Amino acid sequence: MSDKKEFNLTPGENEQYKPVKADITCRKCGKKSTLTLRACVNVSLHPEEKEQVLDGSFFQYTCPDCGEIMSVTYPLLYDDMAKALMIYLLPDQTEEALAKLNEQQKNWSEEMLKAAKVCTMRAVRTINDLAEKIKIADAGLDDRYVELSKAFVFAQFLKQKPGCEVVQVLFEQQNGKDGIVIFSKDGKQYWVEFQEGLYDEVVRMFEDKVGKTSGTEYELIDAGWSMKILANISNS
Ligand SMILES: [Zn+2]
Repeated sequence: MSDKKEFNLTPGENEQYKPVKADITCRKCGKKSTLTLRACVNVSLHPEEKEQVLDGSFFQYTCPDCGEIMSVTYPLLYDDMAKALMIYLLPDQTEEALAKLNEQQKNWSEEMLKAAKVCTMRAVRTINDLAEKIKIADAGLDDRYVELSKAFVFAQFLKQKPGCEVVQVLFEQQNGKDGIVIFSKDGKQYWVEFQEGLYDEVVRMFEDKVGKTSGTEYELIDAGWSMKILANISNS
């Protein structure tokens, strides 16, 4: 853990991330169970849980009666204190949930707000998006410039494969190289490398446009975000 950041992300009384109870019905045998869902995963305290989040097993539930494995997605804060990274998974009505979440910050202690200022605070919609943010941080990259780089690489890809119906585009390193993996509707996957120097060029081009730091709010940095940035540039 880094010793440079002098803050403590332990929530105060109004900021407790309490576990929540949820009912689940097994899709195979119909057995009803009550789950205790943890509202926060702190990978500084529990490093083994990072892998579980990355491979999705953190979200898996096994029916005690029949052994059916189901994925349970719910609002979860992923907290990596060492990387000063806080990512909120908000799977349902993400925009509304995000607005509510940021609204709650008026109840935060001074110390939490101070910590938030030096943290990268993100909201994501899916487990895959969460894993992607973690991988981007592990690669030592800024997800805003990665999102913009993705837009360029993806546009190139579509030129070569016009009409390809794409369902998802995610950052992914292969053999130590940065790139994106593109999932098509017909189940195919394509990995495309970031051209040499692309990321650095994107940083140079957009440094002034994306702002130096985010505030204390959780932000949704996704393809929609990068499209807005790119649209502003072509309009100006
Ligand atoms: Zn079952």
